[in-house]
Amino acid sequence: MDDQADVVVIGSGPAGWAVADHCARNALDTILVAPAPTRAWTPTYGLWTGQVRPLPPGAAFIRATRLLAADRTLDRGYAVLDNEAVMAAYTATAVRTVADAVVGIEQGRPPGVALRSGRRLRCRLILDASGQPGRLGKGPRGVRVEQTAYGMVFPEASAAALAVPGEAVFMRWDRAGTEWPTFLYAVPLPGGRTLLEETSLARRPGLALPELKRRLMRRLEKAGIDPGDRIGTEQVRFAMDAPPAPVRDSVVPFGVAGGMMHAATGFSVGEALTAAPLLAAAIAQSLPRGPDAVRRAARAQLWPASARTVHRLRTWGQRTLLRLPPALVPEFFDAFFAIPEDFQDAFLCGRDDPRGTWTAMAAVFGAASTRVRAAMVSASLTPAAARALERGAGE
Ligand SMILES: Cc1cc2nc3c(=O)[nH]c(=O)nc-3n(C[C@H](O)[C@H](O)[C@H](O)COP(=O)(O)OP(=O)(O)OC[C@H]3O[C@@H](n4cnc5c(N)ncnc54)[C@H](O)[C@@H]3O)c2cc1C
Repeated sequence: MDDQADVVVIGSGPAGWAVADHCARNALDTILVAPAPTRAWTPTYGLWTGQVRPLPPGAAFIRATRLLAADRTLDRGYAVLDNEAVMAAYTATAVRTVADAVVGIEQGRPPGVALRSGRRLRCRLILDASGQPGRLGKGPRGVRVEQTAYGMVFPEASAAALAVPGEAVFMRWDRAGTEWPTFLYAVPLPGGRTLLEETSLARRPGLALPELKRRLMRRLEKAGIDPGDRIGTEQVRFAMDAPPAPVRDSVVPFGVAGGMMHAATGFSVGEALTAAPLLAAAIAQSLPRGPDAVRRAARAQLWPASARTVHRLRTWGQRTLLRLPPALVPEFFDAFFAIPEDFQDAFLCGRDDPRGTWTAMAAVFGAASTRVRAAMVSASLTPAAARALERGAGE
């Protein structure tokens, strides 16, 4: 195979394939390199139905017949990717794949990547979609803020006591007082299956998987579901605190590698899908004008000032979650799902909409009970300011 291309994409996760596909659709010669570039993903990927449009023709997903969140039915559509069908659709595109690992990035004219096999790929631009920072030696240090979950997959009839077949349950809290709060996440999967997953949204460090499994078993037992009926399991652990990664030289970080994860929800797949066509078009238009123009276009597309502000607001939301007293977390989400759905939408999906994000956060504050409001204020302060406030209140 020719080792020259316009664009080399590192990584075959949702972000890598999405941006590679759209680069190819913009007539850019595109190579995607990853250890197993055409292997179907194993995690269960959920996203809002408004975000599936950029998938390639033939890609399939399951659309939940109803979405329940904190005991409310939401109008917003929720989808789960059919990973086998999505990968089959991606591999039918014009993207060329190389099964190898990148061991070094070479800044030169032209730039390129060095592969474990000793091979080199030359290109005009590198898109780094290699996932969690740290894999290529980057990333924040110290104890990370993590989302963790433990799930079991059942034939849909066996799981019906907790999730009606076809329906998605976004957040059903285990309101067990002072325990770190976890909730049930349940979604329909292809092939008449249901995933039941006990989830800890954000914690530093993530709640341990054996504890999540114990709580899931407790939930199954209460609902009369036999864990012996399970046909699969899923374990989730990922960091949620990566900052936006800068575009440098000939490398554009994208997806989780670029810090494009919602700091308060841990979602990134929908945002990668929706950002990919815009980024690919900006790259195709600016490439003929040289590397400086590409860098400017990529920065403007991925991290305009508005997106950086939204990232800060979402991180503030994450900090609030980490500091809320455990017993108040479910109540906090009751308030979130009580605000108008277009506000919820702005908070969940508006990655460059600071006004919408802020309006939603203010609306949650307005909808919350007095004790949740007080906790939100104190959680928003620096630890020193919160201690001073508590001392003041005690005098
Ligand atoms: C079990 C699980 C479930 C999740 N569920 C959801 C969900 O429902 N919705 C959601 O929005 N988010 C979810 N997330 C969070 C997040 O969106 C995912 O981690 C998602 O996979 C990130 O996509 P990505 O393409 O950016 O990175 P990844 O999917 O991590 O892909 C990285 C790719 O880079 C490759 N790679 C790494 N290093 C190299 C190298 N040196 N050379 C070449 N290739 C390399 C890897 O092999 C991989 O193909 C989930 C995470 C997990 C772990």
